[in-house]
Amino acid sequence: MSLLDPLFRQHLDRLTQRHTRRTLLPVRPEGAGRIRRGGRTLLNFSSNDYLGLASHPLLVERASDWARRWGAGATASRLVCGTLELHTEVEAKLARLKGTEAALLFNSGWQANAAVLPALFDRELLGGDALVFTDRLNHASLHHGCAAAGVRQIRFRHNDLDHLETLLAQRAGEPGTRFIVTESVFSMDGDRADVPALAALAERHGAFLFLDEAHATGVLGPRGMGLAALGEGRVDLAMGTFSKALGGFGAYVAGSRALCDYLVNRCGGLIYATALPPAVLGAMDAALDLVPALDAERDRLQAMAERLRAAFHGLGIATAGSSTQIVPAITGAEEDALALSRRLEERGILGIAIRPPTVPPGTSRLRFALSAAHTDADLETLVGAVADAWTPA
Ligand code: PMP
Repeated sequence: MSLLDPLFRQHLDRLTQRHTRRTLLPVRPEGAGRIRRGGRTLLNFSSNDYLGLASHPLLVERASDWARRWGAGATASRLVCGTLELHTEVEAKLARLKGTEAALLFNSGWQANAAVLPALFDRELLGGDALVFTDRLNHASLHHGCAAAGVRQIRFRHNDLDHLETLLAQRAGEPGTRFIVTESVFSMDGDRADVPALAALAERHGAFLFLDEAHATGVLGPRGMGLAALGEGRVDLAMGTFSKALGGFGAYVAGSRALCDYLVNRCGGLIYATALPPAVLGAMDAALDLVPALDAERDRLQAMAERLRAAFHGLGIATAGSSTQIVPAITGAEEDALALSRRLEERGILGIAIRPPTVPPGTSRLRFALSAAHTDADLETLVGAVADAWTPA
């Protein structure tokens, strides 16, 4: 019993009343695209394992091999004695693939965003204020980074570059360094930013462009390494994760050598955290070896997503702006999303309801994420189950 238990319970009761209480649901993976829960095997359309790499033998083998050879832990933070040669090798491989001067590993995407943004908005670095322009649908970790830095975000309408340009123009006379912080693929709507236009806009306004590539890495862009390359050198910082299409864990920042060297000196989330362990690095290294060659899987993934969207539209289901492997089915009300999720589970499908505060109020949804490991038959099963379970408002 903790001192705050009565308050915790009251809070949880309020969440239950609003249909927004969450619980942890233990599952057991059964290979790519399948999951076992409550004694049943379900088709899994809720994971971010977009290429099915989480269970790929090369990742599993290299993770095991590197753990056997170099131990279970890195034993220290990067700046003490935790920078193994393995870290610098993976960073060099990643920078080569991203086409940047340098890259730096982080322990998670959340940690990268939460820690890198405050390091960039540092007054001593900038010699003044940061003016930070953010997409309204940015991921929670990007909001957290801005909040941790104590900056007030200037929010532009989702993916609306005209609005962003208007806001930049309105502030043209103000002192301060401009930053644009956005995502190349949005995690809950599955739509893409127009990276070439963003890069041109950043150039016109002298703004530093920060691009979160969590859901693009492995899936889109040259060699599947994200959309930042389309910015032709005008994306100042691309961050991404190894935890989604790359099948493992951890994250990266890719950019200039000076940027990475600065972060090594000034980014608390890198400086004060124990470095990633060899097993995680092994899975990263193997994923980087595989991903450039997976164009056929990437094409299939997008073709399946196109078919799923067409099927949903045929059923009258809105899919937000989806143009990627993430295809939401918008229900609007929280309880409708929960009910649909339950009905799908009865039909052997795992489709998790996403509710506020993860998405704006009134836009609850089931977020279906496709994987190249899904078969055409899996997709048909999903469409059939949704057609059966969906009750129009
Ligand atoms: N950025 C975005 C856009 C994300 O969707 C996520 C994961 N939900 C993260 C960052 C955090 O990455 P990680 O899961 O590696 O902590």
